[in-house]
Amino acid sequence: MDEKNFKLDIVAPDRILYKGRVQSFSAPGELGAFQVLYNHAPLISSLVPGEIKFTDEQGDTAYYAVSGGFVEVRDNRVLALVDAAEKAEDIDVERAKKSRERALERIKSRKTDIDFERAGKSLERANNRLRVAQRLRENAVIS
Ligand code: ATP
Repeated sequence: MDEKNFKLDIVAPDRILYKGRVQSFSAPGELGAFQVLYNHAPLISSLVPGEIKFTDEQGDTAYYAVSGGFVEVRDNRVLALVDAAEKAEDIDVERAKKSRERALERIKSRKTDIDFERAGKSLERANNRLRVAQRLRENAVIS
């Protein structure tokens, strides 16, 4: 089994979020979610807000909310350069709810100086964080 593992690095601008060997990795690519297993073909993809999921050597699965970035796959090494990503357990649900409310207020307001695209992106990030945090609870109920 060991030889079917590959290297994964998840790097944010301010810190290394994960560095280790994994059995599988999946991410929200711009053209759809994709999964990487051992000996995957070389690939470069941009990321959209969604969920990164990987299973480590011990068989433990981790979930992260990711806001965007890039993934490179080559020679059994995956490098994920992310704008921001939080492990599901570390997501501050209250913060995400407040961020969602702020974004919704901005979108609903009729003020002309609102950057609607920016507010929409913020809303998408907040909703994604809430979805990934919720996913953790669903899994806890199942197992
Ligand atoms: P907010 O409006 O709450 O600042 P945001 O979407 O504008 O949210 P980002 O710019 O995407 O925030 O992220 C800034 C930093 O804060 C990143 O390091 C990110 O991981 C972290 N972060 C943002 N929201 C949360 C959250 N709900 N829980 C944990 N960390 C968060």
